[in-house]
Amino acid sequence: EASTAAALVTGANKGIGFEIVRQLSEQYPGTVYLTARDEKRGQEATKTLQNEGRKNVQFLRMDVGDKESIEAARDLIKKTHGGLDILINNAGILVTAGGSSYQQTQHASATQDAISETIATNFIGLLDVCRVMFPILRPGARVVNVSSSLGTLRRLKNPELIHRLTSDSLTVEELEKIMADYVKNGTDEKLGYPTGGYGPYEMSKIGVTALSRVQQRDFDKDQSRPDIVVNACTPGYVATDINNHSGPRTVQQGADTPVYLALLKGNNIPKGQYLVDREVLDW
Ligand code: NDP
Repeated sequence: EASTAAALVTGANKGIGFEIVRQLSEQYPGTVYLTARDEKRGQEATKTLQNEGRKNVQFLRMDVGDKESIEAARDLIKKTHGGLDILINNAGILVTAGGSSYQQTQHASATQDAISETIATNFIGLLDVCRVMFPILRPGARVVNVSSSLGTLRRLKNPELIHRLTSDSLTVEELEKIMADYVKNGTDEKLGYPTGGYGPYEMSKIGVTALSRVQQRDFDKDQSRPDIVVNACTPGYVATDINNHSGPRTVQQGADTPVYLALLKGNNIPKGQYLVDREVLDW
């Protein structure tokens, strides 16, 4: 079993994920796995980067909604590298309601389908990737969960829910239950969930940021796996397909903080935090 360094980025065939792979491949000597749910799109993106001379970029097919594909990726990495050093959970979707513009979506209401699909990919998919990949993380590994500034607790109008989400005793299981309850009851406006067409996306990212804090706590308690660091971040509002290229930032700017967090070294580093522009923020 070889033990060469390896990094993996989900949803990396385009947008911020693609740029994360590009920047990481420059700064990181190990193999960087560009993963994508679509074989063809993933292969093409990988070829583009290899043709730029980035020989350490390799493709792996991985759909965060398909457990077998995640397990197959894990098996290959385990066999080829002996473990994983960097995991960047970037894959995400935004289901727009009422139209494609920010205004239109903002003023629409969330449908049950949008709630189920969004939580399935952005929260459950990300958590499934972690469940499969965490056992092969090596000591000193870095995990980066791409969240969003839309995933702020201010969008919740339910103090009890905020209390549970921010509690130091929140567990992954309880967080899963909170998200499952949202999938069940999310269209009920009386319950204080984020309203409007962005509600499902906002709730999914609240889940991602909350999860990152819990994951760090769990690693800190596990003496057998020292120095694993998990953080959440937002890339900022970046022009990509997810928002019809309406964001003012470039993918280069958006990829900067995720890559910074993937390469964190030293003592006084953020752990279990939420960052924007390399700075820890309240969520
Ligand atoms: P894009 O739509 O450009 O990219 C999203 C990527 O995720 C695509 O590669 C897409 O693949 C992939 N993806 C979607 N579903 C799955 C799945 N089930 N399995 C594997 N991959 C999947 O958007 P961005 O680059 O902007 O988004 C990247 C991340 O950044 C997301 O998590 C997003 O929420 C977050 N973010 C983005 C912001 C922005 O302003 N752009 C702001 C805040 C957060 P495919 O091509 O096959 O659809």
